[in-house]
Amino acid sequence: MGISAVVWDIDDTLFDYSGSDRAAALRHFAAEGLLGRFSSPEAALARWRVVMEEQYGRYLAGEQSFVAQRRERSRAFLGEVLSDAEADAWFARYLAHRGDADGLFPDVLPALTALTPGYRHGLLSNSDIGHQDRVLRGLGIRDRFEVLVCSDQLGHAKPAPEAFLAACEAMGLPPGAVAYVGDRPDTDAAGADAAGLYGIWLDRTGDGAAHRGLGLRRITGLAALPALLRSLADPTS
Ligand SMILES: [Mg+2]
Repeated sequence: MGISAVVWDIDDTLFDYSGSDRAAALRHFAAEGLLGRFSSPEAALARWRVVMEEQYGRYLAGEQSFVAQRRERSRAFLGEVLSDAEADAWFARYLAHRGDADGLFPDVLPALTALTPGYRHGLLSNSDIGHQDRVLRGLGIRDRFEVLVCSDQLGHAKPAPEAFLAACEAMGLPPGAVAYVGDRPDTDAAGADAAGLYGIWLDRTGDGAAHRGLGLRRITGLAALPALLRSLADPTS
């Protein structure tokens, strides 16, 4: 059986989450008068990133809600006791700086156009479905995908096989008919491979050397995806 569908990661695959986050956080810290607390803007961003990884990880582990991880990121970054309302307001001011509508990577629409028709398309994200639905509609691409599957509905997060298999089930396809494209070699590509899909690592930074030992299928931009999918369909070509 050939590959008949592509299931996509969202953040840092379709949507430039890291770039949008970085720009918004810098504007937010400046507007709040917080940059003087750090040795440099890069140090402030590094702290913001560490706090995000910690608190988002606790959300994905089921230890706190999506709303709670935002509050805890506000509190942990500021190192202050904040009421829920204060923490919500601080995070909302950060989000107001996020130009999500401008964050679509330039190779996304050409790749979707090249792969439609020919392949069906779905989405699988470690996130909150309401949040991702708003982001995708803001980017103008929600209707390009048949299904949006998120970890908060499933109770399973990538790289758990259950998450990938749920996306295949939502598409009505066996895992051997589905390619999964994502920016994280472990969470996305290796996880998809382990679940029986064709995992593809989108290495946008070109930092492939560190992960060569994993034997992952790797592309550095989406322009290379159609040819890779064709080669998987016909390994002799
Ligand atoms: Mg991602």
